[in-house]
Amino acid sequence: MSETPEYRNLIGGELCPASSGRLLDSVNPATGEVWARVPASDRDDVDAAVSAATSAFPAWSALPASARSHYLKQVAQVFIAHGEELARLETLDNGRLLEENRGRAGMGMAFFWNRAAEMTLEAVRGHSVVLDPTTFGLTRREPYGVVAGIIPWNAPVAMCSSKAGLAMAAGNTVVVKPAEQACVSVLRLGELLADVLPPGVLNIVSGLGPEAGEPLVRHHGVKKISMTGSSATGKLIHRAAADTLTPAIFELGGKSPNIVFADADLEAAAAGVTTESIFTGNAGQVCVAGSRILVQRSVLSEMLERMEAIASGIVLGDPLDPRTTMGPIVSEGQYDSVTNYLEVGKKEAELVFGGRHGADVVPEFPGGYWVEPTLFIANDNSLRICQEEIFGPVAVVIPFDTDDEALTIANDTSYGLAAGVWTRDLSRIHRFIRDLESGNVWVNVYRQTRYELPFGGVKDSGFGHDDVLEFTREKAVVIAT
Ligand code: ADP
Repeated sequence: MSETPEYRNLIGGELCPASSGRLLDSVNPATGEVWARVPASDRDDVDAAVSAATSAFPAWSALPASARSHYLKQVAQVFIAHGEELARLETLDNGRLLEENRGRAGMGMAFFWNRAAEMTLEAVRGHSVVLDPTTFGLTRREPYGVVAGIIPWNAPVAMCSSKAGLAMAAGNTVVVKPAEQACVSVLRLGELLADVLPPGVLNIVSGLGPEAGEPLVRHHGVKKISMTGSSATGKLIHRAAADTLTPAIFELGGKSPNIVFADADLEAAAAGVTTESIFTGNAGQVCVAGSRILVQRSVLSEMLERMEAIASGIVLGDPLDPRTTMGPIVSEGQYDSVTNYLEVGKKEAELVFGGRHGADVVPEFPGGYWVEPTLFIANDNSLRICQEEIFGPVAVVIPFDTDDEALTIANDTSYGLAAGVWTRDLSRIHRFIRDLESGNVWVNVYRQTRYELPFGGVKDSGFGHDDVLEFTREKAVVIAT
């Protein structure tokens, strides 16, 4: 046990344990074993981090954009040098396939940080107007001050980067609170950046949501919040932020429809609604997972056959092994929740395939949190498995006949994060793009989140996006000559 590595917070450029000395266990979801320990931070640590970020703000925000850009490019270099290590740590922590983490936590993030470096200029660009011959108007873009980033466990380094990188590009300083289930990669990133960034510009404080997250979002020194996580927690944070009137960005849950019409390329659609959407390498633990698969009745049996054939080829197992195509569920708590939904589904709907979990699925790793790709079929979109976010490799097929019916079912959800449409009919494509209540619509493709496009949701899926301009506010200026 003494060999278990212990990680530390990054506060004001220093690596430090929680002030209480308490630690949380980090469990490898493929084995169920404790493999690292992380600080169980509380209000005192959060106060110290916000205070460090507040002290660092004047100098950081006063830097010319090109100087901030230079620092962010150095962060990109850290990913080039240490990307493989960060990707492996993240795989041990959250079970996502190493192959995928090379892009989302490893070398692939260098691309993101170089892009954030380019955005520093956009963040200082205002505009001017001639109001009348002797009066000029202009806008100044200004950073908020200290930004709080509350991030989830499914892509810790990528989420930390998208919030901290863009907030810092705009001249803010940042306190990141990663999720207790998987924060080692982010804490290690903090170690690597301690000497790269000026002290206090980026601070990282791990801990439980109510103990570390809540004091952070309630802190008077925090001037903007960006949170990615569940809708329930997002609503709690939104309520907490109301007391200080702190503006916030929320990227929350989803119950996304993936709609297949009879005229679609069914081979492409079958992959698009399975491995590219919900039976993913990280076992469907994706906010945009297409968990409701709407299939036009005339191609229902063909689609079910195709989906089952694809699912039967999925290899569950060690996420470090390149032969594996689906890893475990992140934690015991999440595993209990997903397996409970398997029971709910078996009671209220018909099982098409899958449904097994635990050591039966991956006997070589009996302590891991395994759930096999599972598909239900139901005719009633009001069922729990059609309305509640499961966050695992569990989908439900809902057959439909007409376009109107598909649209009604697709929008009959409290969420509005993503939607997929598979068809060759151009008029139908445009109608669905217009009428789907969703922040993202993907046509004949799925799960396309691109840096070039905004990413966010509507309804219970949140509002705002992590965009460099959202980390600035505009001041209006009038000059009389
Ligand atoms: P999940 O339900 O998927 O575990 P959450 O939305 O609860 O995800 O967690 C996302 C992030 O929000 C995590 O970093 C978590 O610690 C944090 N969090 C949880 N509760 C609170 C809270 N009351 N205030 C601030 N942050 C919180």
